[in-house]
Amino acid sequence: MRTLNDTVQAGNSSSGRYAVDAHSALGNARGFDYLIVGAGFAGSVMAERLASGYGHRVLVVDKRSHIGGNAYDEFNSEGILVHRYGPHIFHTNAQRVVDYLSRFTRWRPYRHRVLAYIDGVLVPFPINVTTLNRLYSLELSPEGAEAFLADRAVSIADIRTSEDVVVSKVGRELYEKFFRGYTRKQWGMDPSELDRSVTSRVPVRTNTDDGYFNDEFQCMPLEGYTRMFERILAHRNIKVMLNTDFKEIRDEVWFRRLIYTGPIDEYFDHCLGELPYRSLTFRHETVDQEHFQSIGVVNYPSEGVSHTRITEYKYLTGQEHPKTSITYEYPSADGDPYYPIPRPANALLFKAYQALADTHPEVTFAGRLGSYRYYNMDQVVAQALATVERIAVRTW
Ligand code: FAD
Ligand code: UDP
Repeated sequence: MRTLNDTVQAGNSSSGRYAVDAHSALGNARGFDYLIVGAGFAGSVMAERLASGYGHRVLVVDKRSHIGGNAYDEFNSEGILVHRYGPHIFHTNAQRVVDYLSRFTRWRPYRHRVLAYIDGVLVPFPINVTTLNRLYSLELSPEGAEAFLADRAVSIADIRTSEDVVVSKVGRELYEKFFRGYTRKQWGMDPSELDRSVTSRVPVRTNTDDGYFNDEFQCMPLEGYTRMFERILAHRNIKVMLNTDFKEIRDEVWFRRLIYTGPIDEYFDHCLGELPYRSLTFRHETVDQEHFQSIGVVNYPSEGVSHTRITEYKYLTGQEHPKTSITYEYPSADGDPYYPIPRPANALLFKAYQALADTHPEVTFAGRLGSYRYYNMDQVVAQALATVERIAVRTW
């Protein structure tokens, strides 16, 4: 194990702005009111609330070399803003979350649209009337599209799985074209083995609306996510240590309470078994042309190719640049835990961990990994705000 001083040095080397020195952060006799594990949305928002709203002293640690968790973005060597962990598009109906984050960023309106590459053609996804017309060379009206889908939809009395959800809306052929292959690649299992909540995230439409999300607020942070996180964490009561695993520091820092936003099963040394997660490998490329594709994201549902989607960031960020950067996503079983896998057996195991967590009231679990929930960013922020209101007690 590294010594405490090495750990602090490592934090210093990666980000001067958030570096802490041993005297001010760790040597202080008062220690910290909170140690927060993870500098993603969950950890950063809770740190800010506890520090600004309640006057608490907070130490945030992250084993990565940067803040922002999976929402981290950075300018690559060509000067193009990219998302290291794949495309992150902010969308929400929660005004409270917008109001909160707007204190740390201005916004760039961006309405996300996606094309899917099916049978050699690019068609709008989620499925809408244009998708059907392009795919089948038809000229359906929205009413015609409704009848078209109703004709093909399979009646399923008890909709339990991700397959049931789609087949009951669009029938088997469209399910196989758009959902079966993509889901098998993304999750490493058939949609019939996954909870209905997974494919329920994607709407099916019969009008011409080609937006990916239905949410009212759809924007990108004007200067990027990382800049927003820098502002969230810029409080004199917050210290951040990067390149620091919780395990290395847990016995070396004095703190009253712990907030853990890493995987809950890892915290308990997998004593009840391992919760399954799905991972991804990202292939980032910069190409010497102004654009690579015609839109921000193109999905590849076919099992004939191993990537699920390609993102071209300039559409998301609005950046102008003579070159363009793209990311291919390859799902994988091994690697960082990006997705909790929604299935009944996994929910049961998580419940067992939750019961164990209840016997440790000095620790609060939060975030996508701490809650083992397939949360979007806005849901994590909402959970973080609510959690702090529940646990914090003013110091003055
Ligand atoms: P994370 O961002 O995962 O942060 C947890 C942090 O804890 C990590 O930085 C990790 O290094 C750290 N950590 C874990 N264990 C330890 C330890 N032992 N010691 C120290 N540090 C530790 N949401 C949207 O709303 N819109 C999108 O378009 C969108 N796209 C996504 C695309 C992809 C490919 C992925 C994977 C997710 C996407 N999400 C999207 C979801 C979004 O990333 C999450 O909702 C959000 O980032 C979760 O924040 P968090 O703080 O809970 O977790
Ligand atoms: N999905 C699919 N085909 C697509 C896009 C999505 O089958 O072209 C399914 C797949 O199971 C995916 C789920 O719908 O995991 C949710 O999609 P979403 O875009 O919300 O996934 P995320 O962006 O969270 O990876």
